[in-house]
Order: sequence, then structure tokens, then C-alpha cells
Amino acid sequence: MSNRRKFIKKAALGSIGLSTAYGMAQDLRDEKTQARGKSELIGTKPLIISTWNHGMPANEMAWKYLQEGKSGIEAIEAGVKIPEGDPEVTTVGYGGFPDREGKVTLDACIMDHQSNCGSVSFLQGIKHPISVAKMVMQDTPHVMLSGEGALQFALSKGFVVEDLLTDKAEKAWRKWMEASKYKPVINIENHDTISMLLIDKDGNISGGCTTSGAAWKMHGRVGDSPIIGAGLFLDNEVGAAAATGLGEAVIRTAGSAMVVELMRQGKSPREACKEMVERIYAKHKGHRDMEYLQVGFIALNKNGEYGGYSLRSGFNYAVHDQQGGNRMQDAEFKMAWED
Ligand code: ASP
Repeated sequence: MSNRRKFIKKAALGSIGLSTAYGMAQDLRDEKTQARGKSELIGTKPLIISTWNHGMPANEMAWKYLQEGKSGIEAIEAGVKIPEGDPEVTTVGYGGFPDREGKVTLDACIMDHQSNCGSVSFLQGIKHPISVAKMVMQDTPHVMLSGEGALQFALSKGFVVEDLLTDKAEKAWRKWMEASKYKPVINIENHDTISMLLIDKDGNISGGCTTSGAAWKMHGRVGDSPIIGAGLFLDNEVGAAAATGLGEAVIRTAGSAMVVELMRQGKSPREACKEMVERIYAKHKGHRDMEYLQVGFIALNKNGEYGGYSLRSGFNYAVHDQQGGNRMQDAEFKMAWED
């Protein structure tokens, strides 16, 4: 296309953008996005999406940070710290359900628009693993610290050890111990990681993910959430994706990295999440995990399109932008949870 034609087209799109409710994001739609039209969700920048209901207060805080001019990474950290610190959220940070030995072990990671990333896994006694992950990214030559080493690093940075096992979580663990059967209940015991993705007003993308992992897991088990490429991945040229659900299935298939690659190939965020869920389903037919397999992805791209998709029903995510405020969005799914 000649420069002149490009200019005319851009100018025309600009005026369409200004005259619609979508505003700025519409101006920046590429040809594929325009062609997809109304079948996809599109927000205005800045845009934040986070998994599950606890994404609402997390988004609220991240939004506040962005409005104050803080960076995407600072907004992500502040946002996901809300569920990390909430004892009522039994799948993240303080109050998270423990492993089968009664220990709360935490996984988290964070990634910025320059592909810098930091991660901690199997961390115990530290309420805000996302903040430790951020320091791994900023203050060490590494991407990932685990277990005792992650704890030592956190202590060296001034974090303090706290008892993260609440009475509620301990009670639930003792009840589980009575039968001691590892068969996570779909949408109850193998979900609720908070993953947050955002694109700021300048179009830069960042993401974070934090969890206490699958309830009643074996001691030492690490899920997908702290693994860059599995629980979280982004490429500032393309977009970002994050996962929730049975981490083993997401690791086996390099879930979030694949969603980003599918977007690079031209799929919308929703289409990319759907294709990845279909792939996970196909790979797990006849697998022992299928009985309790739930997996969901959220994704957004550079144009402000976003979407989510899950294997079984019941997955939702919080979306925050200027135009629509903060709201919940149900994800499309492959099958009803009873199937
Ligand atoms: N993906 C997490 C894990 O397997 C669980 C979750 O999403 O809550 O550790």
C-alpha cells in the first residue's frame, strides 16, 4: 500500500474512531482487527484484565496506579497484592489452601514490556510473592528463584515471615485429610489464581500471576503460574496471555506462550485462547487428569482486543477500561462443567 493510501486510510479510521464510543483504541485497529469487527471484544487503552471475581478489586487498585502515572509493572504488583493479602481468598497468598502437609506454598511471576521477568516458586511464609518476583526481576541476574533460596532472597530484601495458614484454610485441610483423596473439584479447588494483564496508554504491555496453587497438592509441587510461557507470557509486539486451572495441563502444552504465538499468527485473543483450550482437550483425552480438568486463558493484544476461553463453564474475568469501567465478563467455554 502506498504511503499516501496508508495515510488516507489512517485518517479515515481516525475519524471513525473519534466518532464511536471505542475512542482511541479503535484508531489503532489493524486490518485483521477491523475485519473481525463486532465478533470480538475491544477496549480502550489503558486496559486491564484479570482472572476471576477477585480480579475486580485487583483491577481497581491497578487502575488507580495507572491513573497516578505509575508504570504497568507497579500497577500489576499493587493490583494482585489485594487478593494476595485477603484471607478470604483461599487460592492466593495469605489464606490460600495448603498442600497435603498443611503448608501454604506460593508461586508468582511478573513480566514487563521489554520481556524482563521475575518469578518465585515454592515460597513459604511470605505474604506477597509478587513483590519478591518483581525484585528477582529487578535486582538479580536470574529469572526464577525457588523454595529456600527464594525465601533467603526475600528475607535479604526485608520481607518478614508470617504464618499464612488461616483457621479457615486449616479447617478445610483437616477435613480433606479425612479422606485424603486428590481429585480437585472443578472450579473450586483447581482454580482462582489471579493473573492480570494490562496495556497502558502508550500501548505497552505487562502481566503478573500469583497463586497458592492447587489445594492439597504434594509438598514441593509447582504449577504453571510462576513459569514464564506456561502461566504467563507476553510479547510487547503482539500481546499477552495468562492461564488459570490445572497447572499440569498448562505446562504440558506451554499454554500462555502458545496463545501469544497464535495471536502473532493473526488470531484474536478469544480465538487464540479457544484454540489452546481445544489443543489441551485433545492432548488430555483419556488422560487421568481429564476427570477434573479445568483450564482457562485470558489474553489481550496490541490493539486493545481482549478475550477469554475455558474448557468447562464457570470461568470469568474482570475487565477495566475508561469506557466501560470495571466489570465482569463471562468467558466462552467448550463444555458445561458437569460433562
Ligand atoms: N494454575 C494454578 C496451579 O495449577 C491453579 C489455579 O489456577 O488456581 O497451580
